[in-house]
Amino acid sequence: MLDGGTLVSVVLSRPRSAQQYTYNTSVQPETETTALNREELVRYSRHIMLPQVGEAGQRRLKDSRVLLVGAGGLGSPVALYLAAAGVGTLGLVDFDAVDLSNLQRQILHGSAAIGSSKISSARDRLYDINPNVHLEAYETRLTSANALEIARGYDLIVDGTDNFATRYLVNDTSVLLGIPNVYGSVYRFEGQASVFGTDGGPCYRCLFREPPPPELVPSCAEGGVLGVVPGLVGTIQATEAIKVLLGLGETLAGRLLTIDVLTMEFRTIRIRRDPECPACGTHEIRELMDYDRFCAGSAQSRDDQKRAVVEIEPAQLATRLAAGETPVIIDVREPFEWQINRIPGARHVPLDHIAAEIPRLDKRRETILYCKVGVRSLYAAQQLADAGVSEVRNLSGGILRWIDEVDPTMPRY
Ligand SMILES: [Zn+2]
Repeated sequence: MLDGGTLVSVVLSRPRSAQQYTYNTSVQPETETTALNREELVRYSRHIMLPQVGEAGQRRLKDSRVLLVGAGGLGSPVALYLAAAGVGTLGLVDFDAVDLSNLQRQILHGSAAIGSSKISSARDRLYDINPNVHLEAYETRLTSANALEIARGYDLIVDGTDNFATRYLVNDTSVLLGIPNVYGSVYRFEGQASVFGTDGGPCYRCLFREPPPPELVPSCAEGGVLGVVPGLVGTIQATEAIKVLLGLGETLAGRLLTIDVLTMEFRTIRIRRDPECPACGTHEIRELMDYDRFCAGSAQSRDDQKRAVVEIEPAQLATRLAAGETPVIIDVREPFEWQINRIPGARHVPLDHIAAEIPRLDKRRETILYCKVGVRSLYAAQQLADAGVSEVRNLSGGILRWIDEVDPTMPRY
């Protein structure tokens, strides 16, 4: 369910007096938290002035431990803002070195750091911003062999990774250890953010049970990204991290924020914990797995599949529907995507339910499948063709091309 439009509403009416604002949260003083010295009282004065933060909240930040996985595009604003905000202990995991092509978006690093490790570059910059921050550096790749050991003892994990294998690894680590996971991802002009793994809230696997096949997942290196997009999403992750640490406001737990900077549309979509989720629902996942293998699992040759499945152009389908034809149309996207937009007359069968749906299909009827861009639906179409459905077609370019060529009034995402 879309929860009603834009993230930010602008009040253009008369200014309200201070007492008209209601603050639903405030940080309660805790006597056991570490006191702030005079330098810190000055440094964080703009926080302390906020009634919802105060000295108690600032002390809580000082005693907080946040693990940041990845010191790249998303990790840059996260690290900069959390260090500046006075988060006491910041764990940083990154194995990479600074490359010239990083600097277009990874604002934690400068030209002088090219060739040196991101960890050492980050350390210099973060200590300059705030020498009070205690950095715990892990100059290594996060793997299923070390993730639990590294993450244990942190209050929060911030996922600044750029690949599915590490994203599932971070998610499962978060669920197994009971540590919330502030998620963000970017691609081209789009971003997503959420807070996973909170008490009662969904995790990443509730939303995306299985990764897309790896050859179909371009990274920023292959697909490109506008440099400010990770800056925007990482800044949102830093905001959510501080809110979680301080118990402030309403976090993105239970909601997925999607951003399209071309239209500058921010949407939040309600998401729920899936009781069948193998991580946080059934708890089938009791230990970390081989995530590279997991993400490679369903990969098959795309070319082989293309040969077996005939494509249909959006305009062609639209013409046939307008003429009163009624082929079976199946939308194989995730539930949240189905809630954003759909082709009229389509049925919703998410990709991982397709196999179970096959016995219920009339194999003699022409069946047309679609997804966002036509890749997941191709996999589904192949399964149907293999199962003997006589006429299987894949909607070329998915619903995005349908929007472009048939119905531009539909929301894009
Ligand atoms: Zn889950």
